[in-house]
Amino acid sequence: MIEVKNVSGGYHNAEILKDISFQVEKGELFGVIGPNGSGKTTLLKTVSRILDVKQGEITIKERPISDYTAKEFAQLVAVLPQNTAQTFSYTVKETVSLGRYAHQRGLFQTMSEKDEAMIQGVMKQTGVEGYQDVPIDSLSGGERQRVFLAQALAQDPEVLLLDEPTNHLDIAYQKELLDVLKIWTKEKDLTVISIFHDLNLAGLYCDRLLLLQDGKKEICDQANEVLKRERIQTVYGAEIEAHPHPKVAKTQMMLVPRFFGRQRNNIITKDLLKITEEKITLQTEAPLRTMSSGVTGAGVGWHNTFVNRHVDRNYHCTDHKNEMKNYLIDHGFHPNDTVGMMTAVRLSDVAHQFREGEGFSALIVVTAATGNAVDASMGQERTIPYKPGTINIWVLINGQLSEEAFIQSMMTATEAKTAAVKELGILDIETNTQATGTSTDSILIGASQQGKMLTYGGTATPLGQLVGKGVYQCMKKALENYFNWRNN
Ligand code: ADP
Repeated sequence: MIEVKNVSGGYHNAEILKDISFQVEKGELFGVIGPNGSGKTTLLKTVSRILDVKQGEITIKERPISDYTAKEFAQLVAVLPQNTAQTFSYTVKETVSLGRYAHQRGLFQTMSEKDEAMIQGVMKQTGVEGYQDVPIDSLSGGERQRVFLAQALAQDPEVLLLDEPTNHLDIAYQKELLDVLKIWTKEKDLTVISIFHDLNLAGLYCDRLLLLQDGKKEICDQANEVLKRERIQTVYGAEIEAHPHPKVAKTQMMLVPRFFGRQRNNIITKDLLKITEEKITLQTEAPLRTMSSGVTGAGVGWHNTFVNRHVDRNYHCTDHKNEMKNYLIDHGFHPNDTVGMMTAVRLSDVAHQFREGEGFSALIVVTAATGNAVDASMGQERTIPYKPGTINIWVLINGQLSEEAFIQSMMTATEAKTAAVKELGILDIETNTQATGTSTDSILIGASQQGKMLTYGGTATPLGQLVGKGVYQCMKKALENYFNWRNN
C-alpha cells in the first residue's frame, strides 16, 4: 500500500532522514518508534507531503505521492499532527465536519446525508458525540485529541498518519482510541502509520514496528523482534527489562529506576523464621521475587511476608482464599505482600535448613504430612474422603534467579520431595502404589534478586544441588517428625 524506497530528506538546510526504506501493507497498523530527535515526525511529514523527498521515492497504491493532486491526496490520506492548534472557536461537530471537505463537490458545498452519517458515526466511535455543540476550545487536551481523530476519520481516508495520537489521553482513552483504530484497520482496511512514544502501546497494537535512530532505520520487523531488551536499551540508552504481557502474546518493556532499593546481599537469614503452634512466619526487609502456589500470593510476584498457617484437621471453608485473606489481615499482615499457605500439620514438626553455596545461600522450610498421599502417575479419581495432610515447601534464596532458574528450582525441589516420599515408602491409599506427594501440596520459590546471578537451577547446577539436597533432607526430617507424632 505504502512504499518508502531509499528516502533521504528533511528540512531546507538539514538532512534528517537517511536512506530509509520500508513498506506498509493495506489494513496494517504500523508503528514508528525511536528516541527524541530520531526523525519520526520528519518521516511522517515527508510521507504526508509537508516536507519534500530529497532522494528516493514514496509511493501510495504504487503511485508516487507527488503525482496526486491536492484533492486526490486529501481523499486518500488523513493526517493527525502532534500539536493540533485551533485558532477558531468551532464547535466539535463543525471541526469534525471539516474532515468531509475533500469529498464535497461543486461551488456551493453542502453536506449530503452521507456526509452527515459519516460525521455522526465517527463522533460516536471516538466518544465525542455527547458534546458536539460545545466549542472545541473549551475541551480538555484529551477530548480535543479525540475530536481531531474524529475529523481525520470523517475524511474516510485509506491511509491515516498519526503523530503520537495518545499523547494527552489517560489510559482508558488510550485504549479506546487504539481499539477504534485497530477496528478500522480490520473492518475498513484502513492503513495506519502512527508514531508512538510509549513502546508498550506500540508493541501491543502494532503488527510491525519501525525503529529509527539518528534519522536511520535501525530495524523494521514484527513488534516482538523490534522490542528486544538489548536493542531498546542500546538505542534509548536506558536500563529496561522485557516481560511478556500476561494476556496478549506481546513483549512489554519495563523501566528499571536507578534507585530501586538499597542493595542488601543476604536479606534472608535463619533468625527471621518464627515458629509457633499457630503459624510459621518469615518477613524480609525487602520483598523477594516469588513463584508460588500459595493460597494467597500465588503465581509470580514480589512478597516480603511468608506465612504457613496451622488449620484444624476439619478445616473446611467454601471460600478459603477469602478466609485466608481475612486471617492475614486479623494478624497484622498485608495480603498483597504475603504468600500464605495452610496445613493441618503440627507446626513444631517443621524441618528447616540454611545452606550456603558459593556466593549464594538458601533457607529451606518444609512442613509435611501424608494423610492425603497420591501417586501422580496414576491420575486416579479420588473416592476416599479427603484427609488433612499436605506438604508445604519454601525455598528462599539470597541470589538473583533467572526465570529459567525459578522454574528449574521448582522442578528440582519437586523431584527431591518425591524422592523423600518414595524413600519412606509412602503409598497412595487409593491405588496402593508408590505416592509422589499429596494432592494439596504447595511450593514457594523466593529470591532476593540481588547478589550472585544464578542463571540455572537444574539438578546438575550449584543452585540445583543445594535446593535438591536441602529439600530432600528437610522432607525426610519433617516426615519422620510427623510419623513419630502420629505413632505416639
Ligand atoms: P522525533 O519526531 O523523532 O522526535 P524530529 O523528526 O522531530 O524527531 O526531529 C529530527 C531532527 O530534525 C531533530 O534533530 C530536530 O532538531 C530536527 N528538526 C526538526 N524540525 C526542524 C526544522 N524545522 N528545521 C530544521 N531541523 C529540524
